Amino acid sequence: MPATAFVYGPHLQAYNPSDDAERPLRRELGIELLRAYGLLDHPDVTCHDPRLATEAELIEVHAPAYVNAVKRYSANPALAAEPEARMWGFQDGDTRARPGMHEAAAAACGSAVTGAIEIWEGRAVQAFCPAPAGLHHAMANRASGMCIYNDAAVAIRSLLERGAERIAYIDVDAHHGNGVQWIFYEDPRVLTVSVHETGRHLYPGTGGIAERGVGAGEGTSVNVPLPPYSGDGPYLRAMEEVVGPVVRRFRPDVVVTMTGVDPHHTDPMAHLQVTTAAFPRLYGILRDLAFDAAQGRWLVVTGGGYNIDLLARLWAYQLAAMLEVTLPEELPPAWLDMARERAGMAFTPVLSGDTPFVVDEESRRRGDEEGDAAVDAAKAAAGV
Ligand SMILES: [Zn+2]
Repeated sequence: MPATAFVYGPHLQAYNPSDDAERPLRRELGIELLRAYGLLDHPDVTCHDPRLATEAELIEVHAPAYVNAVKRYSANPALAAEPEARMWGFQDGDTRARPGMHEAAAAACGSAVTGAIEIWEGRAVQAFCPAPAGLHHAMANRASGMCIYNDAAVAIRSLLERGAERIAYIDVDAHHGNGVQWIFYEDPRVLTVSVHETGRHLYPGTGGIAERGVGAGEGTSVNVPLPPYSGDGPYLRAMEEVVGPVVRRFRPDVVVTMTGVDPHHTDPMAHLQVTTAAFPRLYGILRDLAFDAAQGRWLVVTGGGYNIDLLARLWAYQLAAMLEVTLPEELPPAWLDMARERAGMAFTPVLSGDTPFVVDEESRRRGDEEGDAAVDAAKAAAGV
C-alpha cells in the first residue's frame, strides 16, 4: 500500500471563515470519524502537524501588496472599512475581514505545502490534507468566496519550485475552481480541470468550456459545467470521459485534487444531485487516475461540504479509497454518540446511507439529459 501522509493539526480548527457556526464542528467530526474508524492508525499512514506557509511561499502566488493588506486587516479588521479594501475583495460578496485570517489562511496553505513536500521528497506517495475550508476561490490579488489564500495554488507552486515540470489539478467541488484556474491560466506546466455546477446558476459564475487557457497555457484549462439537477450519471461520466483522458494525456508529475463534497444532492449550497453511492466510485476513479498518470503521486486538499450529517462519512470514504481499505458499513457507536451529543441531532448510522431526493423526478431526468450533453460538449472542447 502507498505511504500516506495525513496532514492536520488542531491549530487548523482555530478559525471560522464564515458566520456558519456549525462549520468547525463539521470538520472536527470528520477528523474524529477517520480516527474512530482506525484509519489514522493504519500502518501506511504517517500523521504530520503542518507548519504555516512562509511569506515567501505565499508571494509565489499572491501579490505582496495583497498579502500586506490581509495581514493589516487580520490584525485589525476595522481597517477593512478603508476604500482600498474594496480592491482586495473585502467589501463586497461574502468575504469579510476577520481577526487572525492571515495566520489561519497561511496555516491552511502550510498544510497543503507540507503534504506536497512529503510527496515530492519521496517520504509519502500520497497525502490527505483536510484543511479548514475550500480555498480554491482565492485570487492572486483578491479574496473571494470566503477564501483568503489559495492552498492548492501555493502547494502547486512549491512543487514547481522544487523541480516538478507538470502538475494536474482536478477540482470536483460543486463550485468552479476559479482561483486556481486564473492563477495558472497562462502557465503550460499546470493543467487545471474543474467539474462543477454551471456558472450560469452558481457562484462564481465562471468555468465555461470556452475557458481553455491563453498563450503558452492554451489548452491547459479544462471545464465541465454541469446544469442544475445533474446526477451521478453525468458527474461520473465527466470524471471518466473528460478528467481521466486529459490528465493521462498531460502526464503530470503529481495529481492534486480538491475534493469538495458539495455536489451531493442534500448539500444546501448547490443543486447537483449526486448520491452518497457515487462518492466512493469517484474516489476510486481519482485514485486509479493518480496511479496511472503520476505513479500514484496524489495530493488531496478538501473543499466545500455543508451537510453535517454527511461530510464526515465522505471524508472516511476518501481516505479509505487512498488506503484501498473497505470500511464497515456500521459507523463506530462511540463516534455516533459523540456526534449526537456535540451536534444535538441524530446522525445516519450507516456509511453509505442516503436520504430521498427532494427535487422531483422529471427535473432530475432533464438534469441528467442536459448533463450528458454538457459532458459531450466538454469532451469535444477538450479534444478527448
Ligand atoms: Zn463548493
